[in-house]
Amino acid sequence: VAGVEAALALHALCRDRVDVELLAPGEELRLGAMVPVQALGGVARAGGHPLRPIAERAGARLTRGALVGIDADRRIALTADGRELAYDRLVIAVGARRERWLGAGPVYLGGPDDLPDLLELRRRIVGAARRGLTTRLAVVVPGGPGWALPAYETALLLADHLERRGLRERLELELVTSEDAALAAFGPEASAAVAEDLRAAGIGLRTGAVVRAWAWGRLDLLPHGGLLTDRVLALPTLRGPRIEGVPRDALGFIPADARGRVRGLRDVHVVGDAGPFPLKQGGIGCQQADTVASAIARELGARVDPIPFEPSLRGLILRDARPRALRAALEGGRAESPGVTSDEERLWLPEAKVAGRFLGPALAGALAGTTLSDLPPD
Ligand SMILES: Cc1cc2nc3c(=O)[nH]c(=O)nc-3n(C[C@H](O)[C@H](O)[C@H](O)COP(=O)(O)OP(=O)(O)OC[C@H]3O[C@@H](n4cnc5c(N)ncnc54)[C@H](O)[C@@H]3O)c2cc1C
Repeated sequence: VAGVEAALALHALCRDRVDVELLAPGEELRLGAMVPVQALGGVARAGGHPLRPIAERAGARLTRGALVGIDADRRIALTADGRELAYDRLVIAVGARRERWLGAGPVYLGGPDDLPDLLELRRRIVGAARRGLTTRLAVVVPGGPGWALPAYETALLLADHLERRGLRERLELELVTSEDAALAAFGPEASAAVAEDLRAAGIGLRTGAVVRAWAWGRLDLLPHGGLLTDRVLALPTLRGPRIEGVPRDALGFIPADARGRVRGLRDVHVVGDAGPFPLKQGGIGCQQADTVASAIARELGARVDPIPFEPSLRGLILRDARPRALRAALEGGRAESPGVTSDEERLWLPEAKVAGRFLGPALAGALAGTTLSDLPPD
């Protein structure tokens, strides 16, 4: 997400001065943001976008490969298959590593690779409900750096999914979060609105609860207590990438200043989940990418205004027919009308889910004609 935004931004800001090579292991831009709605909302096609046309739009060369290290003195990026790619500026956008911190038992909601598990969970819950059996499901948000919204969205979509099939009473849903309040990052007004959404959907909410373990059908909670549950859907904990020659902080993230410049390395930047900012969100990653692209453009002599990193949060919970749009300016961030908004258009499309200045228009249209009805059968 952030890497593509950076390439598009560089093209928009200084196309004649820059020659961009986009190094990616696959041929698709896969959006984690669309996983809940792919599994439960019926937008089956919305997750993957061919990278080649997007790279073309950015005037970039697409190179298949994975970054494993850098030689900063020689300005060389090293790939997994042993190639050396020369650079003048390097933007690292490899995302975070996902850790299965509760062991192998739960289903994890960590990105596109987890979609099959989420579909299987849905099938099992619906299957049990059709046989008259009730499933208790806990949706768990761990502490630490990350992005809690998909847990709320998935819980609401799941409740709605069963409601539409007349099976809602066969699912007991509890959202267990280490946050002080529901989606606390958006502030009290949004928290209250989301807590009300959960209540209206019959979903229990436990805040300030740290899950220690899940064993024998019981979630052990700190500071005290427990929760009996048949199944667990958990967000993974996030850790930084391992790239030889690039510094790491205590959790493995790449330390950088507010302009994305990696500490101790010249002309190396980091954007998105791999960097040090604790909220790991696509929209934030895109804002970082724009900041870095504008700084590079200026260094290359383009006459563009700097784009400061003034983080503002936009979140969209896709639930039944009335998506909930949330906004907040973070400390030092750009003024946004806070809390809950309802002015978003084209709410079901990926460009609304991942708010990127240049990525949004690139994704728009890619899904023209997509409907909400192509949900696979239970
Ligand atoms: C279920 C879920 C729902 C979410 N919902 C939202 C939402 O609604 N809105 C929102 O803004 N954010 C959302 N997020 C968060 C968002 O997906 C991430 O914050 C965002 O994708 C991070 O962007 P990134 O570019 O840093 O990393 P990623 O999007 O993870 O991209 C990293 C890329 O780097 C590639 N890569 C990995 N290792 C290497 C390597 N060694 N060399 C080269 N390439 C490599 C990967 O293939 C991948 O393409 C959600 C996340 C999840 C899991």
